Amino acid sequence: MSDLSAQAVSTWLKDYADVITENANYLTDLDRQIGDADHGSNMSRGMSAVAALDPASFADASGLLKKAGMTLVSTVGGASGPLYGTFFLRLGTTLTTDGELSAEKFAAAMKAGLDGIVARGKASQGDKTLVDSLTPAVEAAQDAAAAGKSLAESLQAASAAADKGRDATVEMIARRGRASYLGERSRGHQDPGATSMALLIDSAARCLA
Ligand code: ADP
Ligand code: MG
Repeated sequence: MSDLSAQAVSTWLKDYADVITENANYLTDLDRQIGDADHGSNMSRGMSAVAALDPASFADASGLLKKAGMTLVSTVGGASGPLYGTFFLRLGTTLTTDGELSAEKFAAAMKAGLDGIVARGKASQGDKTLVDSLTPAVEAAQDAAAAGKSLAESLQAASAAADKGRDATVEMIARRGRASYLGERSRGHQDPGATSMALLIDSAARCLA
């Protein structure tokens, strides 16, 4: 069992900011293949601003998550900023009470985050976007919670499912975002946003359980 607090969320967000810094060139290289070579720099700019938020200035996890979402919306110019921003805003509006973070609470928050991303970006599964790593992660988290698994087991299942979803984007043809301009030629390349989303869930599995 793990406790949900602004401090716990801050540990996750700071870890993810470090992971993004380490992978910025990789994410930008993926975006160079099917986009405009800025996904790494977009995510770095946004997550550096998020990592600078002081958890002590927030009353609870919800407040920090909402501020992180607003920070991403306002600092990231690309498509990914509003989408990741919406994800964290929805997490913040779902995880309203601190205390124990259970597998059920985590699954419900992830589902709300996914719904927010879909409402905003209109992508379906199979469109070769970050939805393709997040959707299987949400389903794995929901299945784990329903099966009475621990938060740690649920997070690990979600992370493994996100990695598989990310890998599956290689064979997809992009139907949303800049990569969709390439049509058939987008096939054979891993989606950058699906890659950064899998890294976010991997970070959650290391930090939140
Ligand atoms: P931009 O495309 O504006 O340059 P980024 O390069 O930062 O923004 O992000 C690109 C990623 O955003 C894509 O790899 C894809 O995963 C994701 N993306 C783009 N459009 C959508 C959408 N409508 N719904 C979900 N994800 C999207
Ligand atoms: Mg881009």
